Amino acid sequence: MRKSLFLVFFISLFLSGCNSAVTKDQMKVVTVSIPPYKYFVEAIADSDFVVNVMLPPGADHHTWEPSPRQISSLAASDMLFINGHLGFELAWIDRFREVNQKMKVIDLSEGIQLIEPSEEDEDHHGHSHEGADPHYWLSPREAGLMASTIADELMKLNPSATERYKLNFVKLKERIAAVDSIVNENCSKAESKSFMIFHPALSYLARDYGLEQISFEDEGKMPSPARLKELIDMTRSKGMKTVFVQKEYDIRSAKVLASETGTRLVIIDPMNPEWDKSVIEISKSLTGEDGK
Ligand SMILES: [Zn+2]
Repeated sequence: MRKSLFLVFFISLFLSGCNSAVTKDQMKVVTVSIPPYKYFVEAIADSDFVVNVMLPPGADHHTWEPSPRQISSLAASDMLFINGHLGFELAWIDRFREVNQKMKVIDLSEGIQLIEPSEEDEDHHGHSHEGADPHYWLSPREAGLMASTIADELMKLNPSATERYKLNFVKLKERIAAVDSIVNENCSKAESKSFMIFHPALSYLARDYGLEQISFEDEGKMPSPARLKELIDMTRSKGMKTVFVQKEYDIRSAKVLASETGTRLVIIDPMNPEWDKSVIEISKSLTGEDGK
């Protein structure tokens, strides 16, 4: 008995010695372009890496400009995960690569069935994206592929942890499957199959779960009074129940739309780092059972 206790003591001493052997300064750094990606990196790699997030809370992903300090934070980064289609990435990626030529850049849109702009979008420029719609991380159906790309790359970055990362990846896939089924159920219970949203952040959620998204920003700005009148009529005629607005935008037009039509105004944060909770919450709000 005494012998085994001694052994336990010895082993724990050994393990704690191992942990403190790597200080935060010596840890590898993984940068993600937006906060939700942090969720996936940490789900796979626990706290093995320092996760550096580029886009700060509340910033608009089309127009945000990194500070010199944020750009230089990439100098210490071993890997950078990008969305591949966000405005600020398109504008800054060359600069990011220049700061650290050894940093591996991984485009998470690789293999995703992207929503390309329709001819109508090209003509009207109703929203502020150029090229494919970047918001695929908000659909649990696309998250599995993202998670698998992240897992593969982190295993290459830290091969000694491969077995643990594989186990974590299995757990993460189970979590994504659970989120998918909750979102699927909520969308099937949605009070209306159509919803209004200021900026079209839920295009993939709508496509993958059989809903119709109608976006009402006008090149990133509020719609004109005439357009707002049209939107009010459309909301009524389609029997819509929910108006979404992202917290980083001007919510005034959404407020008018909601109050004129008696629909619920729901403020969402597509950049929430708690990916699973935020996606579930968004889908829940469509059912009207979220108490808001
Ligand atoms: Zn966007």
